Amino acid sequence: ATRAEEFQFQSDVQRVMQIIINSLYKTKEIFLRELVSNAADAIEKSRFLGITDKNVLAGNPHFNITIEADKDARTLTIADSGIGMTKEDLQKNLGTIAKSGTADFLRALETSNDKNAVGLIGQFGCGFYASYLVADKVTVISKHPNDDQHIWESNAANAFTIVPDPAGNTLGRGTKIVLHLKDDATEYLEDVTLRSLVTKYSEFVPFPIYLHTRKTIEVDVPVEGEDKDTGTDAAKKPESDDEYVVIENEDKEETTKTRKVKKEVDDWEQLNTQKPLWLRSPSGVSDDDYNAFFKAFFREQEDPSAHIHFKGEGGSDFKALLYIPNKPAQSVTHMNPESGLRNIKLFVRRVFITDELIDFLPRWLSFIKGIIDSDDFPLNVSRETVQETKLLKQIKNKIVSKALQLIRQISRDDAKYKAFYDRFGGYLKLGVLDDSRHQTKLAKLLRYATTASTTDLTSLDDYVARMRKGQKAIYYLTGSDVAQLRKSPYLETLVQRGYEVLLMDDGLDEYVTQTMPSFDGVALKNVGKGTLEFGDEDDAAKAQEKDLADKYQPLTTWLTTLLKDHVDKTVISNRLTTSPCALVAPEMGWTGRMQSMMMLQKD
Ligand code: ADP
Ligand code: MG
Repeated sequence: ATRAEEFQFQSDVQRVMQIIINSLYKTKEIFLRELVSNAADAIEKSRFLGITDKNVLAGNPHFNITIEADKDARTLTIADSGIGMTKEDLQKNLGTIAKSGTADFLRALETSNDKNAVGLIGQFGCGFYASYLVADKVTVISKHPNDDQHIWESNAANAFTIVPDPAGNTLGRGTKIVLHLKDDATEYLEDVTLRSLVTKYSEFVPFPIYLHTRKTIEVDVPVEGEDKDTGTDAAKKPESDDEYVVIENEDKEETTKTRKVKKEVDDWEQLNTQKPLWLRSPSGVSDDDYNAFFKAFFREQEDPSAHIHFKGEGGSDFKALLYIPNKPAQSVTHMNPESGLRNIKLFVRRVFITDELIDFLPRWLSFIKGIIDSDDFPLNVSRETVQETKLLKQIKNKIVSKALQLIRQISRDDAKYKAFYDRFGGYLKLGVLDDSRHQTKLAKLLRYATTASTTDLTSLDDYVARMRKGQKAIYYLTGSDVAQLRKSPYLETLVQRGYEVLLMDDGLDEYVTQTMPSFDGVALKNVGKGTLEFGDEDDAAKAQEKDLADKYQPLTTWLTTLLKDHVDKTVISNRLTTSPCALVAPEMGWTGRMQSMMMLQKD
């Protein structure tokens, strides 16, 4: 037989394994979720490739995952009829970590006291190594359509071996992972434990997961001749409760007396019997169900903050289930270009197609997670061509408008909306900035502190409804802190005249107000810039202002010269009531807030 070849793990893998082995994580149980999800990924691949390439399915026509415990050997085996791995795949996929972000994960694990951090392992592309939470040796047997069956094995030292399977291509297609359990992990040999873990983490995996069990059935054996090995199975059992039954044997035309005996037989129990949630009728699904599904499907730790489940009809038929997570994965100001990728999973009639739709949703919706299941695409649509279709654009438009509807729905509950807005408000502003099509709808969802209330935020609609008769603009002031803004001298004359001013403390508002110069036909006016004209000044006031300007002209000229490196000009103004002076930005210039933001960006 061929000798096993030995390979070294990549150094990152060695670090991940060391951490896993040396830790007594409470979350050990997640190994099963990771292995089942890898199995499901692999089956999805074989199913997808099988649509166009019948050879892929030749080795095994079924798609399923099996779990089998062997108490005597103390092994737990997870097998799938997925795409399998070639020798090269085994070497690469189970010896290196391909995903970026592994370094971050390692740092988090090594520095944090949060033992649950390991629960995130799947998100960092090293879920397979979670096997070593419960096993001290792992054997992977795999058959890929393009290669012979190979055996990978490692006891978590720095190396692993690969050898062609001397038993031949017994799997047909797929992968079998044998975990040689550690002394303290024998609970994972118990049916009850395995059953509850699969229900907890893998209930919605779209392929059947079978647990191997033994069940006792009653079989009939002949009383005379006591042939124990009847090969009988449950289906052949006569439907009679009598202890002795008479079976007419038609061939031999003789009567045999039989007796019932109990017999243990193999049984495969399907653990995930749930129909994919998105295909069920919303009326039969509780919020708890939706939340549990979200956590299981997207491997999230926390309940989502909202969901919407709907059907698209006319033009394109599809079902969609969208979630707003508890909080965004990234702050909007530090969003990387790939954020949002993988958040939307596209299925065609329950078959997963892709979660790599580029620019499918606008950037401001990159926090939305969801499933779209279309009835219209052909099954063999490729990930690349689906992107170009008109159908996808129709779906996209519907998704965006439903997402807006969901947010509007939340906005009707003040407390709920406040929690949402604190976390996602920035994304709505991003939408105002770069989704001109939905700008107005998004602007209606913005909320601001205001001089009209010390506690509540206001919408622009409500502001406009409260405007004084003849008021020409929506007044606002920007800065870095609402409490400070409330004390600003810029507000003095406005408040005295009975005008309401919005107080904006988010840097993004500088851009929002520039991109959206008006709302509902009313101009937005920064009270910290340029001159203020209210249109309600009477002639006497104007004359008085002019007199004062003339009278103090020597002072303003002197100040302008004195401060020539710092200010454009010094003027007598109608802005202030009690403060002696204020620095005002020119109408077309940057506000103080904007200047400090630009300075920060330069560093
Ligand atoms: P991830 O699943 O995030 O890629 P894992 O560490 O869980 O990271 O798995 C690493 C890789 O190993 C997978 O991407 C896949 O290529 C391969 N792999 C793991 N399990 C299986 C399996 N059951 N069948 C086929 N390939 C697998
Ligand atoms: Mg994985």
